[in-house]
Amino acid sequence: MYPGHGKICLFSSPGMNGLRMRFEAGELSFREVFEVSSNARRSTKIIDLEIYYHDQVGYGQASFPPYMVENREKNLEFLSNLDISRLAYPFRFAEIHQYLDKVSPVHRPAKAAVDMALHDLAGKLTGQTVSNYLMLEPKAPLFSSFTIGIGSDEFLLRQLDKAGEFPFLKIKLGAVSDYNRHAIDLIRRHSNLPLGVDFNQGLQDRETAIRMVEWLSGKGVEYIEQPMPVASEDDYLWLKSRSPMDIIGDESIQTPQDIINKKELFHGVNIKLMKCGGIYRAHESVRLARQLGLKTMLGCMVESTCAITAAAHLGALFDRLDLDGSLNIADDPYTGMRLEHGRIIMPGGAGTGVRKAG
Ligand code: MG
Repeated sequence: MYPGHGKICLFSSPGMNGLRMRFEAGELSFREVFEVSSNARRSTKIIDLEIYYHDQVGYGQASFPPYMVENREKNLEFLSNLDISRLAYPFRFAEIHQYLDKVSPVHRPAKAAVDMALHDLAGKLTGQTVSNYLMLEPKAPLFSSFTIGIGSDEFLLRQLDKAGEFPFLKIKLGAVSDYNRHAIDLIRRHSNLPLGVDFNQGLQDRETAIRMVEWLSGKGVEYIEQPMPVASEDDYLWLKSRSPMDIIGDESIQTPQDIINKKELFHGVNIKLMKCGGIYRAHESVRLARQLGLKTMLGCMVESTCAITAAAHLGALFDRLDLDGSLNIADDPYTGMRLEHGRIIMPGGAGTGVRKAG
């Protein structure tokens, strides 16, 4: 049973829901241009969302990287159409998500914002952190990888320097083989850290992909994320059976149903709140993936500390964590989770622990 079902309702007024929700569109600027195989950008569109209940407020945020089909204006429209009386406390997350899915089968970033705000509130109203509320307190320290985008030699070395004492690097690669080999060789001349690589669908055919996988396996690379386009399902099946390292699905895997439908194509899956619709669906996704014998990674978009901290409460369930997306935000509007040499330091306090900065 998911927590929140059948909990004593301490603050509800009979016949009145008492919840209020506000949200607004915004944009977060990056410290550095972030380039992946399909695009380069300096900012990300977001929606900030707050849900108030009595004297408490829960924080949520949706972010919209360009590779996602989701569009911010349509997500704002979705939020405007919600009947907030359907989100009554104590929050029955299964029923709430059924309702959200009935309003729209998509608009998952907006659902993620609502879901993380409600989890924040649920923790605050019961005096627990979200990981405590979900009975997922980590038993050992958790660490995140550090992501390095596509760029010049000078950029790569600067990023390598920033990575400092992180235990693991994730390198963005793309369609250009010469760049891919040059970037990995450059990084290898300056670092012995274990690596993962992420092509964001950049390799166009399976022969190119297997050649790249074989070359990378001699370079201390432990996994390769989404090498080919989402539509190349037969090629993923072919590649998986030949690959000496784990093939991880990211863009191919949005919802829990995708994990079931595409379990044969990948060794593991990258689960993100913005793709699946929040903490409840990510929890469902990771349990499903583990039952199916898949490796699990908890990822994020380039987004503020609000969404990343919410995700980190599920960290104990995953094989790998890739939660460094807020490091590139120039003026993070929130405080919460921090990374110290890659180690995840949670903020403490009830709920997600997210607060408005300044
Ligand atoms: Mg990825």
